[in-house]
Amino acid sequence: MVKVKSMATQEIGLNEALAERGIAAWETDLAELIVQLGDDLPSHILVPAIHRNRDEIRDIFVESMGGAGKPAPEGLTNDPATLANASRLHLREKFLRAKVAVSGANFAVADSGTLVVVESEGNGRMCLTLPEVLVSVVGIEKIVPTWEDLDVFLQTLPRSSTGERMNPYTSTWSGVNEADGPQEVHVVLLDNGRTRALADEVGRQALRCIRCSACLNVCPVYERTGGKAYGSVYPGPIGAILNPLLKGVGVDEQTDSLPYASSLCGACYDVCPVAIDIPSVLVDLRSQVVDSHRGDGLDGYAAAMAGAGFSFGSATRWKLMTSASGWLAA
Ligand code: SF4
Repeated sequence: MVKVKSMATQEIGLNEALAERGIAAWETDLAELIVQLGDDLPSHILVPAIHRNRDEIRDIFVESMGGAGKPAPEGLTNDPATLANASRLHLREKFLRAKVAVSGANFAVADSGTLVVVESEGNGRMCLTLPEVLVSVVGIEKIVPTWEDLDVFLQTLPRSSTGERMNPYTSTWSGVNEADGPQEVHVVLLDNGRTRALADEVGRQALRCIRCSACLNVCPVYERTGGKAYGSVYPGPIGAILNPLLKGVGVDEQTDSLPYASSLCGACYDVCPVAIDIPSVLVDLRSQVVDSHRGDGLDGYAAAMAGAGFSFGSATRWKLMTSASGWLAA
């Protein structure tokens, strides 16, 4: 199986589930391939292997492209063009042999049922046209009503993600074409917590995110910690709100701590092309985290605060407490 970069399938752990059933799913985006071959985690939405330098990438290729009777790529240096060529040769065989492709979609157009993938290497076009079966896993928030709406996003996304006026490859498809391409096309509309996020009056704006990664690039916390510290396929400021919104606050340590992974400087809000007020959502999520743990075990701090709350709650109790503490001090 070949895949074109899809955060939705990473979010649901599709590769791992397929591997358990003995199915090899090959990432075909160069950076995703580097992450996969290095048995690593992505650290950026747009540039998943940004934490790797050229020497490390060369070592990963030598180690993982050889083996199992296959020789390591000959004469591999850390030259970017040589590395890109090695990955091209490695992937070409996968493209030609794969019977099934899995894609995500940057957008889905409701009025024509069209799915849209934007990418910059051409691997998406290969995935979408060569295999016999195509399965697209699409978050329900990716749906836009009409082509006119898509027009706006196709201008907004490349400008905010790579600073380009348009991206190199935009692929659209609306089902099976008998003369060309996959002869079986399936679309999986993924919720996985999105309706939960939609029910959150403050947090629902996070569903507008088009994954441009502009907020990561300006975030002083992300700059210091890198993407892996967020423990999710969605790192950076958007990850700090999206993960708790999708999973629910108070469910684990990650969703409890992510709303605090911010200085609230507001740089993410300034740069976001779809005006998601990330600092306000963070503050609201912090209050939800606190609320979700009220009454959790009565430790010393909570007991002291409960006692203080009880004493300060009425003038009579307050007077009694101050006279009792004076009596105790005497
Ligand atoms: S929150 Fe805004 S800036 Fe950040 S990735 Fe999403 S659309 Fe881009």
